[in-house]
Amino acid sequence: MRSILFSALSAEKRIYFLCVLCGSAINFIEKRCMDKKNKENTEYLSGFIAIIGPPNVGKSTLLNRLMGKKISIVSPKPQTTRNRIVGIHHGEGFQIAFLDTPGIHKTRTTLHNSMVSSARDALSQVDVLILVIEMSRPDNQEISSILKTIKRTSKPVMLVINKIDQGPKKALLPIIDSYSGRYSFEVIIPVSALNGDGIDILLEELKKRIKPGPQFYPEDMSTDQSEKFLVSEVIREKIYLHTGGDIPYSSAVTVEKMEVNPENNILSISAIIHVESESQKSIMIGRGGKKVRDIGRASRLELEKMFGKRIFLELFVRVEKNWSRDPKALQRLGY
Ligand code: GDP
Ligand code: MG
Repeated sequence: MRSILFSALSAEKRIYFLCVLCGSAINFIEKRCMDKKNKENTEYLSGFIAIIGPPNVGKSTLLNRLMGKKISIVSPKPQTTRNRIVGIHHGEGFQIAFLDTPGIHKTRTTLHNSMVSSARDALSQVDVLILVIEMSRPDNQEISSILKTIKRTSKPVMLVINKIDQGPKKALLPIIDSYSGRYSFEVIIPVSALNGDGIDILLEELKKRIKPGPQFYPEDMSTDQSEKFLVSEVIREKIYLHTGGDIPYSSAVTVEKMEVNPENNILSISAIIHVESESQKSIMIGRGGKKVRDIGRASRLELEKMFGKRIFLELFVRVEKNWSRDPKALQRLGY
């Protein structure tokens, strides 16, 4: 039918129709190509990144800075972080999941062993590693063993020199020079996790190194840790800040109850601070209960900001003999 109609047209009109047909075919092909190109350009990027390095160089602070909010606890004492914390950074068309790891270091106790093996595990599961060192102590003695470990993983490694707010920029040059000789890092980026210097550059460089992939986590999810875990970490951080000696390292926190009272919208939380001996228990409680009250007050203020509601926090101190050396107790306490 179509060919009869076509042959009925004058030669001039036939040529005109052919041109229109070709034109729309070209338009169609062009549109398909553009669509494909746009799709390629906007392909979703995702990846997993581990933050590793010696204790106390600022790994948790860096994670919190990259996230724009507090996910991981920070303290001036080394070895505060015990679990892997996933913080998820959501950007336009991309997602980066970060693993904060306890420092990789020599181990003495079972707790330390479990912390180090969790750091090693993290390395095998990620696309890129960020090795963090600090500007004022670049030659931390544990670096050589960490470098050995990362060489074995054969993953791309970015070197972050943190705490550049602590000294003159010119101090960076010899560090960059010496580290470029020790390993072929993808890039070396100086930052201050504390004031945010260099963080944009770090994020840009990270984005270049993640690949097209699925959106692993929904956009409103910023960590895979439960609320109870985050609460216990805030309390643990305050223990680090308010007690000294071995006490912080001998303490674990479990949250037993978290309930919102629908009548007044107050969130009630009960938590237990586990310590290893009676003498630690009395130090933790303090004279007339002052120490544990201070810890509770500092925790409550921070938790109220975190949850945006009033909080009633109850803390109990309990002796769990030698928990940090007992694999079963470690498991029970979530390590
Ligand atoms: P981690 O053990 O590597 O996770 O280290 P933390 O994040 O807990 O930080 C250890 C200490 O270093 C804390 O007192 C932080 O406030 C401090 N810190 C972290 N980043 C910086 C930084 O960029 N500049 C300065 N001046 N201090 C920092
Ligand atoms: Mg940490």
